[in-house]
Amino acid sequence: MKKCTCCNKEKDLNAFYFSCGRYKHPCIACTKNKRQSIQGVLYQRWRGIVQRCEGQVGHFTTAIGKEHISKEEFFAWALKDGVFCNLYEKWKKAQFNIGLSPSIDRINITKGYTFGNIQWITMRENNSKSMSDHILAFGKTFKKSKKVRLWKNTGEEMFFSSGKAASKFFGKNRLAVTNNIIMGHKINGWNCEWRKT
Ligand SMILES: [Zn+2]
Repeated sequence: MKKCTCCNKEKDLNAFYFSCGRYKHPCIACTKNKRQSIQGVLYQRWRGIVQRCEGQVGHFTTAIGKEHISKEEFFAWALKDGVFCNLYEKWKKAQFNIGLSPSIDRINITKGYTFGNIQWITMRENNSKSMSDHILAFGKTFKKSKKVRLWKNTGEEMFFSSGKAASKFFGKNRLAVTNNIIMGHKINGWNCEWRKT
């Protein structure tokens, strides 16, 4: 048995999350309640923005290196934004169905999280929109394990089976390499492009 530091109830150990070798102090029910609170969801969305802009997510994002509004601006904007409050209420009514959770969308994905370029939509809408946004902005989709072609103006040419393999060759972070390929930037003097397989 363990006492939750949030609701102060004595609960069985399996009512607590276990990670990094220890049980978390608030129970699972309290953690969920907190995550699903207005402040909790805004905080998570804010963390998501920062992580995407700083490239700390485990997948490619067009947000890397882009600017974003401050935390204070983000919270103030969301709380006076009728769209967020409306989505939040609907999400709550739907027993916090993940597809309906309020999610931040960049209207133009070549720009950052700035006023005029951000709007609230549901998670489900955002997920289906992501792919079409990429196609609109770059004219192609990004699937895993595409071939990479490297070449120099001197005529040298190399092929790699994936972005991961190319990043090993460069000894660089895969996200950074993928980002460079998509943006058409040279890496260590090599021109890079995805190859249709
Ligand atoms: Zn609790």
